[in-house]
Amino acid sequence: MTAARRFFVEGAKAPGDVVELGGSDAHKIAHVLRLGAGDTIELIDSSARTFSAALLDLGRVVRASVLAEQAPPAAPPMLTVDVAQAVPKGSRMDVVVEKGTELGVAAFLPFFCERSIGRGAGAERLARWRRIARGAAQQSRRTSVPDVHETVAFEHLVARFPDYDAVLFAWELAEPVPLARRLQEVLPAAGRVLLVVGPEGGFTHGEAEMAMRSGGVTLSLGSRILRTDTAALVLLAVIGALAS
Ligand code: SAM
Repeated sequence: MTAARRFFVEGAKAPGDVVELGGSDAHKIAHVLRLGAGDTIELIDSSARTFSAALLDLGRVVRASVLAEQAPPAAPPMLTVDVAQAVPKGSRMDVVVEKGTELGVAAFLPFFCERSIGRGAGAERLARWRRIARGAAQQSRRTSVPDVHETVAFEHLVARFPDYDAVLFAWELAEPVPLARRLQEVLPAAGRVLLVVGPEGGFTHGEAEMAMRSGGVTLSLGSRILRTDTAALVLLAVIGALAS
């Protein structure tokens, strides 16, 4: 129902109540909207609940009978962002986990691919990343600690793409569409988003093609080549700015 037929009423209402609308509301109903007995309007009560109501009679005061409560409008999908990061050499993954946690990442999916320097990450590194995630969540006063998954091969990561509404595949050879524009195309309809960032040596064309075949959207982060541990953080910051 259009907002024109929506009226605020004092107090909490319930189906079966009869409400009275006077003044400009009564005038609008009778003379602007030209409604009559039996027509329906929408009422919003003091507890912000919305009801449909049927007009009973019109005059200086309009009386209406409260019918049913209306379901609240569906909230836009809550944006959750996971980061699939090709595990970099050394302790750079620690930085991605710490800063990514501060930037709101819901889960980290470490992986390795053809040009990865390391192959997988042992239990000790995984435990350290999980400790870092917990510490960063506490420091940044988050209400949740992001998951850090076991490290998987690229093929297994790609198999998870269907779990997401949008998969953003950071690729320096992608079409140079400005990042903000590409994100504004993808994000509004997305609830669960996965960002995929390659290793120091980058993705192979075969990996990029596999990702695109599985629904990944390639994304340029601009003309400069960012370090692997910089790329996800840049993306997270821009997404955060656009979604706020
Ligand atoms: N192949 C790159 C080169 O020519 O030096 C190296 C890869 S870069 C160090 C590591 C990862 O960060 C890439 O696989 C990609 O996911 C991401 N990345 C870095 N710069 C990027 C850019 N300008 N556009 C898109 N992705 C980028």
